[in-house]
Amino acid sequence: MNRRSFLGLAGLLPIYSLIMDSKELKNTLLTGESTERMPVLFIGHGSPMNAIEDNYFSETWRKMGTTLPAPKAIICISAHWETAGTFVTAMLKPQTIHDFGGFPKALYDVQYPAPGSPGLASEVARSFVNNQIGLDNSWGLDHGAWSIIKHLYPKADIPVIELSLDYRKNPQAHYDLAKELKAFRDKGVLIIGSGNLVHNLGRIDWSHIDDPEYGFDWALKANETFKKLMIDGNHRALADYSQLGKEVQLAVPSPDHFLPLLYALALKDEKEPLSFFNDKAVMGSLTMTSVRIG
Ligand code: ZN
Repeated sequence: MNRRSFLGLAGLLPIYSLIMDSKELKNTLLTGESTERMPVLFIGHGSPMNAIEDNYFSETWRKMGTTLPAPKAIICISAHWETAGTFVTAMLKPQTIHDFGGFPKALYDVQYPAPGSPGLASEVARSFVNNQIGLDNSWGLDHGAWSIIKHLYPKADIPVIELSLDYRKNPQAHYDLAKELKAFRDKGVLIIGSGNLVHNLGRIDWSHIDDPEYGFDWALKANETFKKLMIDGNHRALADYSQLGKEVQLAVPSPDHFLPLLYALALKDEKEPLSFFNDKAVMGSLTMTSVRIG
């Protein structure tokens, strides 16, 4: 489903019309309940095939799922859901969206039946002060979300909601909006930005399909630039990435896969640790470099 067809189907679900069943209600995050502060992740998702492949990246995700504090719910900001305005998915049973073409049938057969959480969705929408968040009842989980979360939580027993990217906003506005999600870290919610730091599909080196760990010089340079700015805590420069030179311009030809990083960084406290994982380039023009905060 592309953006246009989605927008044709999208409908706002007014908060007052939400009816939560009792099972779902139990999963809702109770205001005031104190839990351990959850880490925040930015995950480079790469090819949709990572969903069904046993490889270095998917193995890291699986291990990570067993070592992270158990979340009560997940909010995923996926590169693959762009809308006019910002929305959260608010359905009880989000569909698994196969939003790609030309892959083997086995990938289209994947279902990730994690529940949604209308309660959490309305709590998110209500909690924003400086931005308006709409409730969506027609999207679901696109591959930016399920291709990684299925490895993190294979039992599909943790509610997942997605937050969309408003394509009308500039990067700094995305960063500022993301800050309003911060309180959910203290409510047992794992927030995951899913994209890729370096993502230029037009320049993929197909000669490396069987030997995918390879990055063009410009891709490696851009990736290092991003990492250094993250280590330095220079989020402003990252939000202003179009000014970071020609390597970064090649690395980020469109904002969609880069913006989820800004959502993760916006949720970091100044003194919190930040670490990288899956820090590898693939097929020349992609990097899988991922970030854990906290
Ligand atoms: Zn993608």
